[in-house]
Amino acid sequence: MDLTFSSEQEEWRDEVRTFLTAELPADFDWNSEYDEDEEGWAFALDFTRKVAGRGWIGLTWPMEYGGLARPAIDRFILWEELIRANAPVVNHIGWGLAANALLAGGTHEQKLRFLPPIARMETFWAEGLTEPDAGSDLASLRTSADWTGEHWIVNGQKTFTTWGTHADVLYLAARTDPAQPKHRGISIFCLDLRAPGVSFSPLHNIAGGRQNHTYFDDVIVPADCLIGEVGHGWDYIMGSFYAGGPMGGMECEQENRLAELTRWCSTVGRYGRPLIEDPYVRERLAELAVMTEISRVLSYEGLSNFLHRRPPRFGGALNTVVSKEMRPQFSQTISEIVGPLSQVRGESPAAPMTGRPAEWFLRGINNHAGGTPQVKRMVMATRGLGLPR
Ligand SMILES: Cc1cc2nc3c(=O)[nH]c(=O)nc-3n(C[C@H](O)[C@H](O)[C@H](O)COP(=O)(O)OP(=O)(O)OC[C@H]3O[C@@H](n4cnc5c(N)ncnc54)[C@H](O)[C@@H]3O)c2cc1C
Repeated sequence: MDLTFSSEQEEWRDEVRTFLTAELPADFDWNSEYDEDEEGWAFALDFTRKVAGRGWIGLTWPMEYGGLARPAIDRFILWEELIRANAPVVNHIGWGLAANALLAGGTHEQKLRFLPPIARMETFWAEGLTEPDAGSDLASLRTSADWTGEHWIVNGQKTFTTWGTHADVLYLAARTDPAQPKHRGISIFCLDLRAPGVSFSPLHNIAGGRQNHTYFDDVIVPADCLIGEVGHGWDYIMGSFYAGGPMGGMECEQENRLAELTRWCSTVGRYGRPLIEDPYVRERLAELAVMTEISRVLSYEGLSNFLHRRPPRFGGALNTVVSKEMRPQFSQTISEIVGPLSQVRGESPAAPMTGRPAEWFLRGINNHAGGTPQVKRMVMATRGLGLPR
């Protein structure tokens, strides 16, 4: 197995790194969960606009829709470097889910209308799938979109809407035909979040970030904001989760944390000797290195499958299960090395590594977004191993 990149790909990686070095302060640290910090948010928006200015948001999209028509592997490299630099990129739903759904199911006119503004970072999208009674069982969603003959009227509630109050538009899944079997009566819309009848209430997660409850009270959605065909929403949701190809990067996040921790272990002592000389600590650090390499191999395997159009193993759920379950395990091992002070947040002078272990831990257990590991295990069992439900 050859895990190296070609010289052209390495040049592309260098180009991204040069951009990141120029645009991010040397000691840059961004906590993506604090989107209520206005200064941090403004910086993130500005930075993402610069990424857009390079044309990198639509890197792989066709040129006529605002893209650069580059290969999927370039996108993978871009994301590795963005994550390695802990870069403050926002509007993932626009770049990802919404763009993928449009590319897969949108009409030519819709692609021309919606994709270039995403590529230019002029429209910010949020995701409106989950409801209070429809999370893992998403097909049970009840938010309704009724056709009046002129436009759609949306009523209902979504929850966990990440970055909802910052967004312009919502990638909305709504029930358009209650008489159809539950997977068939769903359609996808682009809903204007500034329209009359839309409101939010906050929902704070364990890591300090804000999601939202989003309410729709007779919200009018124009006919041309239906994406694709009526009743095909489920296919677009499923298709768009996989369509863009793997993004890579978890291994880079782990690599960064391991490097920072190893440096810290070299500078502090315990029981009269540097921590780095403690056999227990060295074993744990080695464990973290093994986890990092597992992530890298799985990530590269996912990329290779995508590039060679091979169906991913275990129904495509293996990487998600490993990454979602490894994140808390990784943070737990860091806590074991650092000790009780790993629970001290950044505001305290006693916090090691300016409180990052505590932050990593809280983000590590915040792993339900995009589907829970338990449900992904079920996908592995049924679609991957062919076991009965
Ligand atoms: C930080 C964060 C950000 C999010 N952002 C968004 C967003 O922007 N937009 C959006 O639409 N949604 C978002 N979500 C919602 C996310 O997709 C859902 O939380 C997730 O799909 C799980 O749904 P639920 O919360 O309703 O949990 P439930 O489905 O109620 O599950 C509760 C528990 O039961 C388990 N469980 C459920 N069914 C089964 C089963 N059949 N077998 C075994 N175990 C099962 C689950 O694994 C889980 O542990 C976000 C969630 C989080 C935590």
